[in-house]
Amino acid sequence: MSIVEKLARERRSRLAAERLLEQKKRELFAANSQLSRHARSLSDQIVEQRQGLELARCEAESLKDQNSQVLHDLERANCEAEVAQRQLWEAIETIEDGFAVFDAAARLVTANRAYLDLFGAGGVALGDPYLKVLAVLAEGVADLEGEDVQDWCHEMIERLGRDVIEPTVVLLRDGRHIRFLDRRGEAGDLVSMALDITEAMQREAELEEARERAEAANRAKSAFLANMSHEIRTPMNGVVGMAELLCETALTEEQKLFAETIKSSGEALLVIINDVLDYSKIEAEKMRLYPEPFDLERCLHEVMLLLQPKAREKGLKLLVDFDLFLPTRYIADPGRVRQILTNLIGNAVKFTADGHVLARVVGIERTDHSYDLHVSIEDTGIGIAPDHVDLIFGEFNQVEDQSTRKFEGTGLGLPITRQLVRLMGGTIWVDSEPGQGSCFGFKVNFAPAEPTGAAMHPDRPVLLKRALIVDDVQINRVILERQLETYGLEVTNCRTPAEALEALAAGPAFEVILTDHDMPEIDGPDLAARIRAAGVTVPILLLSSRPDAAADRTADMTAVMQKPILRSQLLKVLLELSYPAKAAEIVPVAAAEPLGGDGRTMRVLAAEDNRTNRLVFRKMVAGFDIELRFAGNGRETVELWRSFRPDMIFMDISMPEMDGREAARAIRAIETERGLPAVPIVALTAHAMDGDRVSILDSGIDHCLTKPLKKAVIAAKIAEHCPATARPAVPIPSGRPG
Ligand code: ADP
Repeated sequence: MSIVEKLARERRSRLAAERLLEQKKRELFAANSQLSRHARSLSDQIVEQRQGLELARCEAESLKDQNSQVLHDLERANCEAEVAQRQLWEAIETIEDGFAVFDAAARLVTANRAYLDLFGAGGVALGDPYLKVLAVLAEGVADLEGEDVQDWCHEMIERLGRDVIEPTVVLLRDGRHIRFLDRRGEAGDLVSMALDITEAMQREAELEEARERAEAANRAKSAFLANMSHEIRTPMNGVVGMAELLCETALTEEQKLFAETIKSSGEALLVIINDVLDYSKIEAEKMRLYPEPFDLERCLHEVMLLLQPKAREKGLKLLVDFDLFLPTRYIADPGRVRQILTNLIGNAVKFTADGHVLARVVGIERTDHSYDLHVSIEDTGIGIAPDHVDLIFGEFNQVEDQSTRKFEGTGLGLPITRQLVRLMGGTIWVDSEPGQGSCFGFKVNFAPAEPTGAAMHPDRPVLLKRALIVDDVQINRVILERQLETYGLEVTNCRTPAEALEALAAGPAFEVILTDHDMPEIDGPDLAARIRAAGVTVPILLLSSRPDAAADRTADMTAVMQKPILRSQLLKVLLELSYPAKAAEIVPVAAAEPLGGDGRTMRVLAAEDNRTNRLVFRKMVAGFDIELRFAGNGRETVELWRSFRPDMIFMDISMPEMDGREAARAIRAIETERGLPAVPIVALTAHAMDGDRVSILDSGIDHCLTKPLKKAVIAAKIAEHCPATARPAVPIPSGRPG
């Protein structure tokens, strides 16, 4: 081998060795760096673990703190609980009432001294079962007032089993009354309170006794007032009656003023006495209702008529709106309904200076065919402030105080009205706004006294087709229009006579004209004259609140009708106009009925024991064409009835020997026995006490008039009963149409 070869081989082995070295170096480096990475991660882990250890140590430290805080809190809570328990227990011990707790197994686990003391020394101890507690109570402590011990314990145990445990009162032998109040807790334990209510029971008994005494005294007072006012009425009737007669005699102006003052003061006094009488009767629980059939619409109109003069003085319009689809006749106490209406409408007129008072009646039929009637009285008067509204139904409450009073009144009207409405099973209310007006309303339920709807369904139809209404008050026109429309008439409304004349000239043919009486500028009669002057012959009805004032100006009128217009009267006139064959029967509504022939004198018998009253009666009928006899008691009345054969009898009720009722019964008995016609008997009575009216009518008397007597009422009754064979007994009022 050559050197060169040797060298080359050597160089190759050196190169190979160098390459190997290089490789090992690289491997060593890699192993080194892995080692150092490993070492780094190891030291990281160590650092991390050391930190974790530190954290755990901190946490352990803080837990230790917390633990001691909790221990501290617990200790404090324990202390507080102990204090609270002690306070509670002291409180329970301090109260005079007994307090005890029984556990779910009905053993006494807690009881205060008051509770344990109930059972006497050694009677009951903690740990005793409820049954033992009951037994001790029943056998030695409680006064069972004769009840069997077993029964009593049984009842007491049964009581605890109920869902709601009612309190029970146990009378102890020492006279105390203990009320046991028991309640079940959620865990089944029973909390029991024993309250000593002896004093409260005594107070209650005393109060009850005092209340009874006060009520008895109040009833006695009311009965006394009722009797007194009743007694006062009788002589007052004499005063008022005589004053009325005195006014009709020839007097100087001054004397006339005196007499009129006596009369009006007497009447005012009677109103007050009547209020007191009514109120005390209600208070003394003597007020009774006497229901009978009556016409509500007529009653309402009559009240309006009575108040018409007062309203007229002030220029107030009185309006009635009675629902056309309601019956008008109902069964109720007419006198009391009238009183309610008089009070409410009277107040409305009293407290209204101008504008109107509107009485509205609406209602609905119930399934039992009775009617729920709503009656409201609306005025445009002074109104009532909200803070007074609740008070006015109270006794003697008036909005005005005494010093500023300008309205008369007793303050009893509304309380009486409310009581009457309540007595009828109804309710009353008021809406009012000061300065705007008030609306009083009441609701009652009345049974109708006629086949329902009869009043609205005449047996023959109204044949008139077109009507003309002339009235300056819109609400009047509306009401009248509604009434006419139900009878099938087409209505043209005019606000003024001028409008009416235009309508007549321009429009279609009317078959009836209804005109108001009082209107500004041209009044009703003037309008009628102008209509006739224009050659129009249509029937004209004058609707007037004072027919007397139109008496000598009715030539152009077919009829004069008193306002407010009664529906049945309107219907009657419309029917008469529809069937002219009957035209002869048309009588102006306000006119007196034509009276009998030219025969004998009508005979009137008056039974009256009181001399003053006789004098009053004699004077009242002084101008009448009658033969009058007096009887001083019931017996004389029956005798005179036989011998004198009167055409009618006025009968006082309370008379000596035989009273008016007995006399009437005797007369009726003889009439029946002999088949004689019944003589009309009219009772004259100062009796306003309840029961009287019924017993009076039961005795066979036909009518009841209450004193003070009114000449006009007596005259009407005499005229009503004047027989056809006698001369007219009562002069036909002069100046009236007819
Ligand atoms: P009075 O006899 O005073 O009228 P009431 O009991 O009838 O007694 O009425 C009580 C009070 O209620 C009246 O004094 C009046 O202040 C008030 N009042 C009643 N009705 C009306 C009304 N329509 N408008 C305004 N105030 C009224």
